[in-house]
Amino acid sequence: MDLGIAGRRAAVGAASTGLGYGAAEALVAEGVRVAICSRDEARIREAAERLGNGVVPIVADLSNTDGATGFVRDAERALGGVDILVANAGGPPPGSVDSTDLDAYRAALELSMLSTVALCRQAVPAMRERGWGRVVAITSSGVRQPIRFLAGSSAARAAVTSYLKILATEAAPDGVTVNSVQPGLHATDRIRALGNLEQAARSVPAGFVGDAGDFGKVVAFLCSEPARFITGTGVLVDGGACVGLL
Ligand code: NAD
Repeated sequence: MDLGIAGRRAAVGAASTGLGYGAAEALVAEGVRVAICSRDEARIREAAERLGNGVVPIVADLSNTDGATGFVRDAERALGGVDILVANAGGPPPGSVDSTDLDAYRAALELSMLSTVALCRQAVPAMRERGWGRVVAITSSGVRQPIRFLAGSSAARAAVTSYLKILATEAAPDGVTVNSVQPGLHATDRIRALGNLEQAARSVPAGFVGDAGDFGKVVAFLCSEPARFITGTGVLVDGGACVGLL
């Protein structure tokens, strides 16, 4: 299927590895011109070299809103504009309600909610002016089914999902779609750090954990031309792990 986005320009956050890298890879394969960021210069350069096709490496820390705004500005400068924004950042550390203090909630909101707001505030007005744009935020299956050992993350993801829904409604008349993709367990550095992958796979009805490359293709589809009527929604990619109906 031709996704119809060759030549479009994308900024993909937190993409030296993991789900962000998977999204960047899938967009590059569609002929999209891509800028990626992470905090470490050597790692983001290495990722851009692996992706090839003129991918632009940018050093930015998305745990603060200045870093998020600066990333989109730098991407706009390097690419001449941004038509596609993949709002992604690292995830907050684990913690139950009992072990998560107020500062940890503040940090989680900054990383997983306000950074997305800042990315969108910088990128979306120009998309709306041009009459075409795609925003895809990488959130978590915790939006559907809060994860007890990720209290800060689950709360922040719910907040950002509400923001994205309102933005989708406001931007829809201008040809800009706004969606999220909600990962369940995927084999990335984050999940390896949180626990044992083989053991984790046993909790997934599909019997295996997800692959960042497959996940990236779902993101790319939401950025596509044929997806123009999909907005304000969240796509769960979790091998059947969430059992709720909504
Ligand atoms: P990861 O830790 O494997 O990779 C994260 C990437 O983000 C790396 O490139 C890292 O360098 C970069 N990064 C981290 N903090 C950053 C910051 N402050 N500023 C800029 N770059 C930063 O993570 P992942 O598994 O790819 O997850 C991506 C997102 O999806 C996270 O928000 C995570 O919580 C969420 N998520 C992942 C899974 C999963 O199974 N992998 C499940 C649910 C939710």
